Amino acid sequence: MSEFTGECFCAEIQYAVRGPLGPARSCHCSRCRKAFSGAGSAYLPVDPETFSWTQGADGLRRFESQHGAGIGFCGRCGSTLCGLYQGQVVGVTLGTLNGDPPVEIADHIFVGSKAAWDHIGGTAPQFDAAPGEPVKRET
Ligand SMILES: [Zn+2]
Ligand SMILES: [Zn+2]
Repeated sequence: MSEFTGECFCAEIQYAVRGPLGPARSCHCSRCRKAFSGAGSAYLPVDPETFSWTQGADGLRRFESQHGAGIGFCGRCGSTLCGLYQGQVVGVTLGTLNGDPPVEIADHIFVGSKAAWDHIGGTAPQFDAAPGEPVKRET
């Protein structure tokens, strides 16, 4: 079984995820732009059972909504490392994975509210809103 590692910008916080890695997703909504400080999220859902902190977990800061969903980020450098649900890690940010892990963004969601400067490339399907609703554009 393969294991993948990740870390924040300053490398104080490090983690490992057991593979295989599932499909990743990018959400282009205005909330994700703020939460991930970019064009949107680039996010890999993971089973909490397959995830572990390997260094610096004490330095993780959490921002969680009243519904229990949130993000975890490095208190020193600010990198967003993971998605949280009810205190558990349920996903990691693609940008913090080390090396060149075998993972693809399988779909782009909330493309209907993307930033005007965001020009999405690649061939993954794009959805105006949530998946299952009409595809905005096939490339
Ligand atoms: Zn850091
Ligand atoms: Zn979003």
